[in-house]
Amino acid sequence: MSQNTTNPAPVAPSNFLRQIIEEDIRSDKWGGRMATRFPPEPNGYLHIGHAKSICLNFGLARDYGGVCHMRFDDTNPEKEEQEYVDSILDAVQWLGFDWADHLYYASDYFDRMYACAEFLLQEGKAYVDSLSAEDMRAYRGTLTEAGKNSPFRERSVEENLDLFRRMRAGEFPEGTHIVRAKIDMASPNINLRDPAIYRIRHAEHHRSGDKWCVYPMYTFAHPIEDAIERITHSICTLEFEDQRPFYDWLLDALMPVLSWHSRQYEFARLNLTFVVLSKRRLIQLVNEKHVSGWDDPRMPTLVGARRRGYTPEGFRVFAERIGVSKADSWIGYGILEDCMREDLNGRAERRIAVLDPLKLVIDNYPDDQEEECLAPNHPQKPELGKRVVPFSKELWIEREDFVETPPKGYFRLFPGNLVRLRYGFVVKCTGCEKDETGKVTAVHCEYLPDSKSGTPGADTYKVKGNIHWVSARHAYESQVRLYDRLFAQANPGARRPGDAEGTERNYLDDLNPESVKTITAFLEPALREAPPEACFQFERHGYFVADRVDSKPGTPVFNRTVTLKDSWGKA
Ligand code: ATP
Ligand code: MG
Repeated sequence: MSQNTTNPAPVAPSNFLRQIIEEDIRSDKWGGRMATRFPPEPNGYLHIGHAKSICLNFGLARDYGGVCHMRFDDTNPEKEEQEYVDSILDAVQWLGFDWADHLYYASDYFDRMYACAEFLLQEGKAYVDSLSAEDMRAYRGTLTEAGKNSPFRERSVEENLDLFRRMRAGEFPEGTHIVRAKIDMASPNINLRDPAIYRIRHAEHHRSGDKWCVYPMYTFAHPIEDAIERITHSICTLEFEDQRPFYDWLLDALMPVLSWHSRQYEFARLNLTFVVLSKRRLIQLVNEKHVSGWDDPRMPTLVGARRRGYTPEGFRVFAERIGVSKADSWIGYGILEDCMREDLNGRAERRIAVLDPLKLVIDNYPDDQEEECLAPNHPQKPELGKRVVPFSKELWIEREDFVETPPKGYFRLFPGNLVRLRYGFVVKCTGCEKDETGKVTAVHCEYLPDSKSGTPGADTYKVKGNIHWVSARHAYESQVRLYDRLFAQANPGARRPGDAEGTERNYLDDLNPESVKTITAFLEPALREAPPEACFQFERHGYFVADRVDSKPGTPVFNRTVTLKDSWGKA
């Protein structure tokens, strides 16, 4: 029976994986089953590259009426921690995906993996090798030369089983014996030259404790995990392409035990300009305090992106837009920012913020008078209503909205000019005050009482300039963090044109010294009530989010998520 008839046609654009799955459904290859998995190793925080894999695996399962398993690939005892498990689950959920009751830990399969290894030994498809690591390397051969058989390769089944059981019992120190699949030392694919499948490790595991002192190798464990869970499409990144023959060899050999042969498909991992995505580098950025932590809003981790104000919907749009292919390529960071802008433009209410404040005094407005102006929450969504912004004699405006001598085409405040205070009155600039250094400290103007926005006749004033403002008496004075890209170079650490031959660059040299600027800004009073993670467009400035860590009730702190326009376009 085809699932096509019961499931709506996917809306996402087609790609090679969708074609494979659709063909499999047509030919009923899997007896109606469709199962993918997302299998992180819990040894770090998830990053934007993982978001691609999550959207892909969960998205395919959703679109084809299948399931996607959340699986921790925690077979390596040394590097894994509960903290990472928790943050990974949190990130997947945050992205909007649900594994229902399909949460698995590879370490729960240790008994079955061990049994698989014994089965291979029994079948003569594996052996215990006792070469030193050095000799094993020498016997392996090279890309151009065949390897040589180990002198231990022809051990009897009884001896192999005995040794493996004693390895398990903890009788041998690490490195003395290893279990290898018995395939072909002359294979042109080095991965088939009797790859290691089990090794001795006297280590504590975060879940199985000290029960085991033998642990499976990743390339052995992963196909077994897939088969145990009856995964149909095991999707991984391209660097595993050369492992696929072993994946298939192993599941063929284990057919009598596992009765399932998942299929592996590879796609190109995400490479994104202006960030680094390798775990090693992310750990270095945190450990050496180039950032404030894993969730620093400049980090390409999902916890960082979330604090920055990036949205799950934005990531899902991004994943779809970049698509999947088998060819390695680089994606411009601006594409991700555009996806966030698109999503935020639709959802973010508009607010007013003055980031570089200059006082504007309305000399003909009574000292203790104040009144309400109405500002729409969203220009394209009248259903979101309007809010009140208080108006009074002294306002904050942006410093760049006043000049004494206007350049050509400047329509904002300068002596003698009329501008509209957005959602408020038209004012005429009369002059300014300066300090002894010549810096402008206040601007003066007079308002036209019959020009208030929304009142009859207000439109008769045709002015070209329209500036935003916040009443000084009512403003919420707050910290705002202007985040920018963490790296100033598209490919951090790469050689640049003009570098001398042999120049070595370190990606840390390309950190952007301006990646964050903390300022004190004046915000419209409604922003005091913003709950953590509420996002807004600060008019003319960009999208901002109330920080989910540093905000307190009544005193939110804001992070700039992204500017309104791409200022890096030329970079
Ligand atoms: P490591 O190099 O430590 O193995 P990893 O980035 O591969 O790191 P995993 O925890 O093994 O980390 O990744 C989980 C899944 O995410 C894997 O299936 C992997 O293919 C996928 N993945 C990791 N990085 C990217 C990336 N840049 N683009 C797309 N998918 C990725
Ligand atoms: Mg990996």
